Amino acid sequence: MSSSGVRPVTYWDGNPVPFITAWSGERVPSQPLAEIAGRGGTGLGFVDEQPLVDRQYYALWVRMPAVRTGRPDLKAVHALRQRQAMSRLLCQMCGGPTLGERPDERTLFLVGAAGGRPISEGEQTSSPPLHAVCARLAVEHCPRLRRGWAAALVEYTPAWGVEGILYRPDTLEPEEGLHSVSFLDTARLHWILASRLLVTLEGVTPVDDLDALCEDSEFAQITS
Ligand SMILES: [Zn+2]
Repeated sequence: MSSSGVRPVTYWDGNPVPFITAWSGERVPSQPLAEIAGRGGTGLGFVDEQPLVDRQYYALWVRMPAVRTGRPDLKAVHALRQRQAMSRLLCQMCGGPTLGERPDERTLFLVGAAGGRPISEGEQTSSPPLHAVCARLAVEHCPRLRRGWAAALVEYTPAWGVEGILYRPDTLEPEEGLHSVSFLDTARLHWILASRLLVTLEGVTPVDDLDALCEDSEFAQITS
């Protein structure tokens, strides 16, 4: 059985476009927010809420189209593809599965780190995993990563919480900026419109040499 889950990467203007990047045809429409009474008490909801679609990981999720049309906005992350990639450990670059890529079942994570700070044990991230070859492609093309990056092989990635916009219970006005809320913080979880799934990185081994890792995984593909 082949161990490679690498899929063809989408290109735009000669540059690779990550799977989780949002496109101009995917602008976030205005959200039909309302205060609703749910099982856990009063909280944020949609006027026409469909709980099986709109609620994931204990939170209300932003509604947005998922069509990948128009132009990619390389600074914008698509909330639902990010959640899909993080929850199923799909590669953020090509969208293919990363599980089974390595015989030890560890997963590669890569973050921008201008100061060269390594990924530390137990830190939270909203950046989904990558294949080794996709990580090398990202480092070659992404301006932010070219200023510095840190990579690590990770054993476990338990879901930690969500990131999104918090709304004030009394006025339903949004608070400034994005907030990270743990699944243990149910009071704030009731009032967030989620746009990212965050996981904890456990069993972290830093990786300095992506080229060597690519050769490792190519070797694994040939011999498996
Ligand atoms: Zn990939």
